[in-house]
Amino acid sequence: MAWVALDDKFPHHPKIMALTDAEFRTWASALAYSQMYRTRGHIQKTSLQSIPRATPKIAASLVNAGLWHNTDDGWVIHDWDEYNPERRMKSDRQQRWRDGATNGEEKPAPRWQREDTPQSRQSFYASAEWRRTRPLIFDRDQGVCAVCDTQSDRWHADHLEPLGDILRRDGDPFDITNIQTLCATCHGRKTGVEKVLK
Ligand SMILES: [Zn+2]
Repeated sequence: MAWVALDDKFPHHPKIMALTDAEFRTWASALAYSQMYRTRGHIQKTSLQSIPRATPKIAASLVNAGLWHNTDDGWVIHDWDEYNPERRMKSDRQQRWRDGATNGEEKPAPRWQREDTPQSRQSFYASAEWRRTRPLIFDRDQGVCAVCDTQSDRWHADHLEPLGDILRRDGDPFDITNIQTLCATCHGRKTGVEKVLK
C-alpha cells in the first residue's frame, strides 16, 4: 500500500471549496488511483471508469477548476508531485530493487541490464517487477486489444515506445501509461513493423 499526501489546509483552498461533493470525490479518488497505478498523475480516458463514480462531465468540471489539465489521451492532475512527496525516496528504493540490490525488506529482482540486447530483454521479461506490472495492464484494459477492440485471454502487454528505445535512453520500462494490451494478431503485426523499421 502506498500513500498520497494532502496539505492540512486543502479543505479551505478556494479551488477545493468550489467543488461539488461528486467532483471532490473524483478528485480525491483520482489521487489514490494515480498513486496505486503509478501513472504520475495521468488518467487516460479509458481509465476514467476505474475511478468510482467519475464521469467525463465531472472531469470537465475539474479541468475548469484548474485541478486537472487536459492531455492528448485524457487528463493529468495539477501539481501531482505535491501530493506525492515520497516519490523521490520511493523511486530510489524501487530503482535499487529493480537493479537487483537488496534493502532488507524486498526480495531482489533477477538482474537485468539497462541495455538493448537479447539477454537483457529476456531478463527484463523474467523480472519480478515485470511480472507484477502485467496484471495491472490486464486489470486496466480488461484484456481488450487497444488496436482491434477484441477481448482475449491470450493477450500481450506491449510497450508503445519500444522496449529497446526505452532501455537505450534509460527510461522507465514499467511506466504503465506506455504499456498497452494487444491481442496476439495485432501484437505480431506491430512487432513485425518495428523490426522492418529498425
Ligand atoms: Zn487486436
